[in-house]
This record gives sequence, structure tokens and C-alpha cells, in this order.
Amino acid sequence: MNCPNCSKAMHPHRIKDVDLDECKDCKGVWFDQDELRRAKDQTDSDLNWMDFELWKYEDRYQISPKPIKCPKCSLGLASVQYGNTGVEVDCCAKCQGIWLEENEFGKIIDALTDELATKSLSDYFKASLEEGKEIVTGPESFFSEWKDFTTILRMFQYRFFIENPKLQDTMINIQRTNPFQ
Ligand SMILES: [Zn+2]
Ligand SMILES: [Zn+2]
Repeated sequence: MNCPNCSKAMHPHRIKDVDLDECKDCKGVWFDQDELRRAKDQTDSDLNWMDFELWKYEDRYQISPKPIKCPKCSLGLASVQYGNTGVEVDCCAKCQGIWLEENEFGKIIDALTDELATKSLSDYFKASLEEGKEIVTGPESFFSEWKDFTTILRMFQYRFFIENPKLQDTMINIQRTNPFQ
């Protein structure tokens, strides 16, 4: 599978029990639904971990065409943004794959940290977020070291493709008319 950004071959990268494809050049990461499904069984009970606002409310989503293609099915991707968080995640609603650019992960941590300031979240979540921040800002800044990275991936899948069927319809429509394909 080639990087949707630089077209070079991506490298498989295993985080916990999820296989991702990573671009060594731009550090973007692709993961698809099948890869995630395999890791799902033990994690459904963790969904209440996601008791925060990020990606929760349908009316705060903004979806637009993205000028890169899905590495799996070659459809132009849909760019998904949420409120004023500055976070942008690129999705393919057809194969339910998700593309995450390197700097997006830092923005996700920032957005979650902002929310942490306004809410009382569990101690586990606070500790986990601190760990994520250290990894993002540390010398070895690759997010795969963060133990809850796969939880974030599951949250994408849940919020984008399961919890909000209308959102998925919107994505598909945007992708159908995406001029970048
Ligand atoms: Zn790349
Ligand atoms: Zn696709």
C-alpha cells in the first residue's frame, strides 16, 4: 500500500494488536477497519472511556473533500474536522479506513487536554493523557508508544462510522463528488 501523501510504499507497523501502515517519509499512518476489528473484542467495554466531547456532537462536524486518495480504494478522502479543535482526520467511508498525519496526533492530545481543563475526567484518563503529551513532545515523538493510541483509533471508528450513520452518508456524498480522483 502506498502513502496517499507521498505515494511511496508504506511499512506495516504493529501497535498492540493493531496493524497499521506507516509512511517513513511523512510519518502519516493509515489504518483500516479490518485491522481494527481484530482488536475490538476486548475493547468494547472500554467505550465508556470515551466520555469526552471530542467528536461527539454531529452538528459540530465539518466535512470537506481532501486532495489525496484512499490508499485502498483510490476514492478521494473526506476531511473530517470538529468544531474549533483544529483537529483534522481524513477518512474513507467506503472502506472505513482512516489517515492520520503526523501532527494530527499532537492536535488530538491538545484538544483532549483542553477538555480535561473544563471537566472532571477519570484519573486513568488524566494519567493516560499526560503520558501521551510526554510522548508527543519528547525526543522519541512517535505516538505508537502511547498505550491508549488504539483507544483513539477505536473512538474514530465508533464515532465516525457507527454512532453517526448520517455522518457516514455525508462523507460518502463528499467522496463521490471529490474532484481529486
Ligand atoms: Zn508519506
Ligand atoms: Zn477506501
